[in-house]
Amino acid sequence: MLKVPKPDLGLPWSNRFLTLGEEFFTRLEPTPLPRVHWVNCHLSFAKELGLPTNIFESTDVLNVLSGGGTFQGSDPVASVYSGHQFGHWAGQLGDGRAIYLGEIQTPRGNYELQLKGAGKTPYSRSGDGRAVLRSSIREFLCSEAMNALTVPTTRALCITGSAGVVYREEVETAAIVTRMAPSFIRFGHFEHFAARGQIDKLKDLADFVIREYSTLLVDPKEQSFYPNEEIKKLIQGNIYALLLYRVTLKTARLIALWQSVGFCHGVMNTDNMSILGLTLDYGPFQFMDDYDKNHICNHSDHSGRYAFDQQPNIGYWNLYCLGQALLPLIKDKDLTVQCLDVYKSAYQEFALESSLKKLGLETIKLETQASDLVKKIDSIMEIQGIDFTIFWRTLSQCVSKIEMTLDKGNPQDRDYFKAVNKMMTHPQAQLLWAKWVPNYLEFLFGQSLSPNEIGQKMLKNNPKYVLRNHLGEMAIQKAQKGDFSEIEILLRILTNPYDEHIEFESFASTPPEWAKSISISCSS
Ligand code: AMP
Ligand code: MG
Repeated sequence: MLKVPKPDLGLPWSNRFLTLGEEFFTRLEPTPLPRVHWVNCHLSFAKELGLPTNIFESTDVLNVLSGGGTFQGSDPVASVYSGHQFGHWAGQLGDGRAIYLGEIQTPRGNYELQLKGAGKTPYSRSGDGRAVLRSSIREFLCSEAMNALTVPTTRALCITGSAGVVYREEVETAAIVTRMAPSFIRFGHFEHFAARGQIDKLKDLADFVIREYSTLLVDPKEQSFYPNEEIKKLIQGNIYALLLYRVTLKTARLIALWQSVGFCHGVMNTDNMSILGLTLDYGPFQFMDDYDKNHICNHSDHSGRYAFDQQPNIGYWNLYCLGQALLPLIKDKDLTVQCLDVYKSAYQEFALESSLKKLGLETIKLETQASDLVKKIDSIMEIQGIDFTIFWRTLSQCVSKIEMTLDKGNPQDRDYFKAVNKMMTHPQAQLLWAKWVPNYLEFLFGQSLSPNEIGQKMLKNNPKYVLRNHLGEMAIQKAQKGDFSEIEILLRILTNPYDEHIEFESFASTPPEWAKSISISCSS
């Protein structure tokens, strides 16, 4: 029999997840795809990880990343988890099409590698274990776009494609995304062992996460959310409560960041919630175009459970499931609730922090006034149904151009915002906007930096480019005809989303008419 070469990635492997034992996974080999090729290789990410620059020139590496072999040092498995889907207990799920290859030690810390779409596993249920090119392009681009927007996320190293076909609503071609993260452990992993009453395994998992990932789980503001000294002592004295407290803060921060870039996840089931607070499992996600709080990006989400403005509540709901799963270890119901309750104040603080940053306001004396300012602009955006990304970018540009005459600007001068004024066409939005501007200007002129400096900072925080559905769609349509060039262009723009890229101005515009009918389902 022909021996398949095992390429060496040039970095040491550790595969810590496997130390959890066989109850947590099934060892298996990926299933190869026929006639494989590269679709896109993320060179700068590979460099960041210290991977040899020529890995993408190797046919052996291409074969492994297409499911046709393994790396030296890799020990592939599919892991088992359970979860709540759309509010209901779904029982056992698991890596139905993602195969964990192992974990490499990189200068940026350890990263696990997964092949998404690498064939059937014992957890595939009725699925085929495959992913289509369309959804792989979306996951690949969005992971890297989110990372560039400084939103915690799993990463993506490359996409490989194949001549092999898969059947969804129609015949499509198969692809595999190599995705990476310090860990792919989900809330659902905990729920799995808790639901089965396997408390020893639940404890092994919690101990593992605490031992291996605590440094990644600490939020810079961790100390400030304890409700009082007594509860702080109790939480810090119970390692499992502390774990829940930390995941709560991580999740609150993640969702506040999603809201701040207009990101709608679409399938916030507990099996898609990362224990490290990373954006995980890109399916029917969407960056909002016109601002609509009730926006539902998942075509299959009929009740709007995962609508944009529901995301913060769902984050809490999901944490509650995690809290229930951890209860047998925390062994104290009140303390569990205390850890979860922190979510409300933490979310509010993180959301306010990111909104103020978007507005360029750092020195705020009165928090209530600041939060009022944020609430008002939010409702103006909603009434106008303004394009989310363009609004923030235009506001930033206007601020960067404010010249202060004498030494004080004029807070009544709406002309500073001519470009935004034009976007306000709804009479009520116009009225509220006219009232909001002087209020904002007063804050702005009270900062230690000049408006010009503030505007420059805002331009580095309010992106010009996000992965709008129609941009992804254009790259997908070309890729389906064998032209992968647009993926490369989008990758370059989306990984530098605050730069102007004037030659790609059209990628920063509102969606064209045809794109309004794009509907994204769970089918991927
Ligand atoms: P998702 O909604 O993508 O998070 O998937 C929910 C569950 O279904 C997970 O356990 C996935 O691994 C599994 N799954 C989704 N699509 C497939 C597929 N094509 N083949 C096998 N399993 C799948
Ligand atoms: Mg999933």
